[in-house]
Amino acid sequence: MTLENEINTEIARTRTNALYQSGVTGLMGISIAMVIFVSFVWNDVNHDILLPWIATFIFMLVFRIFLIINYRKNAKLGKINSANTQKWESWFYYALVIMGMLWTSTAFFPYNANIFQNIIFVTLTMISLSGAAIALYSHSFRSMITYFSISILPVSTRLILLDERQAYLVAAATILYYIVMLKIIRTLNATLLDNIRLSIVNRNMSLRDPLTGLGNRRRLEVFVEKLIPMSSRNNQPFCVLLMDLDYFKKYNDNQGHHAGDVLLCAVSEIISDEVRGSDLAIRFGGEEFLVLMPDTKIDDAFAIAQRIGTEVMESTDITISGGVARHVPSENFEDTVRRADAALYKAKRDGRDLIEIAEDIILD
Ligand code: GH3
Ligand code: MG
Ligand code: MG
Repeated sequence: MTLENEINTEIARTRTNALYQSGVTGLMGISIAMVIFVSFVWNDVNHDILLPWIATFIFMLVFRIFLIINYRKNAKLGKINSANTQKWESWFYYALVIMGMLWTSTAFFPYNANIFQNIIFVTLTMISLSGAAIALYSHSFRSMITYFSISILPVSTRLILLDERQAYLVAAATILYYIVMLKIIRTLNATLLDNIRLSIVNRNMSLRDPLTGLGNRRRLEVFVEKLIPMSSRNNQPFCVLLMDLDYFKKYNDNQGHHAGDVLLCAVSEIISDEVRGSDLAIRFGGEEFLVLMPDTKIDDAFAIAQRIGTEVMESTDITISGGVARHVPSENFEDTVRRADAALYKAKRDGRDLIEIAEDIILD
């Protein structure tokens, strides 16, 4: 996945999260609005129409509550990912649009009495609800623009159809409100997305080695903080692989520093290609790399290390040595790294272009 893709996925996830967060406030708002609206029009509209409307409204309300609860449950389990975040946003969007259309239908109810007064009340309700929707759903441009349009445009038409001077004036004011808000919606959404992008790019940069694009030590810290409790809870040991280029100083001296940099990037790419998606590869130091392999047996970690070694040897002008250690639950992470480092040192001493396995520490 390219960096740009990663950032876009992250933005999509942040936006969907924000939508579902605001969803609860939105539902509280429309519930209150529904009670006030029904009380207001109760005597002026046929109950054969009003009661099915209320039933549909409650059905949609329950459906949206169900959606939000489900989203939160999935988010807690870490199941919202790049593959399904778009789908969650769409569900939210369509439920919101149906809700908007339900509200809009109230402008076309056959009111038995006080038609003008009721339509004006509906207009006021729509203006408040659409304003709230803009504030709440500012992360989703299409949610804001669709909800706003289906709230304001039909009700303006209904006002014009009343064919009364005062209704024309309210319709004109409503359409003016619509035009002004369109501009605000665009700016609000663009500013929000810019801010999200900026914070994601910043975080991404602070966890990445600028030369090779691999993670850095800070990235490792973040990863380890989550890995250690998960590994002990699930009784899944992990492995640490430490690798160091052989005679890299000589390579730099002979080929120049820039060629050395290019080689570091090539090796980083080989390591990234060989490790699995669940592993973390970081640049640990100058020409030293660390790979963290969750839920991995030492033999498998050794095999991956050897594959990296072979690939580096075959496709570059240099070789690499490595030391691999399995984390023992009673030791802390630094101890495991120290043992991997000792194994790496042994590989260097034994002639380089080698992978050594650290012995497990002896437990009492
Ligand atoms: P050994 O096989 O024992 O590991 O020998 P070595 O020469 O690889 O190890 P040494 O620690 O003596 O030298 C490491 C070299 O790595 C020295 C340093 O100039 C180079 N180096 C560290 N970071 C960078 C970098 O970012 N770019 C380049 N081009 N070279 C780097
Ligand atoms: Mg070194
Ligand atoms: Mg070296």
